[in-house]
Amino acid sequence: MAQSGGLSGRLTNGCELACGRRYVRQQMLCASRLLPMPLKRWSIMTIERARIEAHFKPWGVDGILPWSTLGGRVGELCFERADAAQQSQLQLKLLFTNQPLSIHVHPGDEQATEAGFVRGKTEAWLVLSASANAKVGVGLVRTCSEREVRAAAEQGALVALIDWRSAFAGDVINVPAGTIHAIGEGLVIAEIQQRSDLTYHLYDYDRDRQLDIDQALAVANLGAVQVRVRFGRLSDQRQLLSTTPYFCFEQITLAPGSRWRIETPCETWVLCIDGKADIAEHLVARGEAVFLEREHGSVQAGPEGAKLLAAYAQPNVLPYLLQRAVSDQPDGPFTPSGHSLLGKTLQRAVNQTAERPADR
Ligand SMILES: [Zn+2]
Repeated sequence: MAQSGGLSGRLTNGCELACGRRYVRQQMLCASRLLPMPLKRWSIMTIERARIEAHFKPWGVDGILPWSTLGGRVGELCFERADAAQQSQLQLKLLFTNQPLSIHVHPGDEQATEAGFVRGKTEAWLVLSASANAKVGVGLVRTCSEREVRAAAEQGALVALIDWRSAFAGDVINVPAGTIHAIGEGLVIAEIQQRSDLTYHLYDYDRDRQLDIDQALAVANLGAVQVRVRFGRLSDQRQLLSTTPYFCFEQITLAPGSRWRIETPCETWVLCIDGKADIAEHLVARGEAVFLEREHGSVQAGPEGAKLLAAYAQPNVLPYLLQRAVSDQPDGPFTPSGHSLLGKTLQRAVNQTAERPADR
């Protein structure tokens, strides 16, 4: 097991800063831990309430209760670091669609860095609600030539080449970089993605937007896409929704009043999608989120329980993301008894590969 500098496993807290970030000397692992913490001598530890930025879009929804009381045509609620100057690798959003979004594609990391950007964009979606006949488009219906796709994009006929799939609440869809994709109308979607603004638009339903057909064709996969999602039950509370090389995406369901401990060695976003929860003294209701990085804290579900989404910036599932509290003390000791069970269920889940039906 990776350890550093011959120091043995205990966590040493250092000075506390007024901004709420704590510098810790080193987080070390006890011998039972499976995944090592990052081995930095001084790490920044953060738990903060995520700031919500509303983006108004022509394809947005006028009135998005119960997610927000905001008026206007809201297309996106973006969850951001409390301090906008702070960086993050992932971007968490809620999308509300009353019209179809543009048909577009994102480059991968290599293509993005060649273009002078930090990273490309792979994304994953969880459908939270869907009207009848709601659809998402992922990939093309068949392998097409670049010439064919270019002609379709220029003539406004690209919609017919997109592989549209019926969307239902609970569907999880992975969209690797390079996949031509689109989101139809009548959907509420939780989206986790690599943080990148690099989008190449192929078609935008004659809305007034510049298209990037050359750049899109240079990075796009011009064929059908297998929408394969690895998912499985990690514990009674944790459901793995998706893993990609850049993040894991989970749904967490907590019984009313139950107490837990959350612990993460990496950038992690937790969004409440139902009920309420107190996460390290940040009370979150539906549509509210917290950001954590190299931190731990107590979690208590509200009187009606809580349903949370967690997305964290690493490709492997975190076995100890959520541990059951055995003390009424907010930061008291926590049971190790769930670890072996979680290890077994984790292995089963990771071994399980389920293919979403092409259409339903
Ligand atoms: Zn996209």
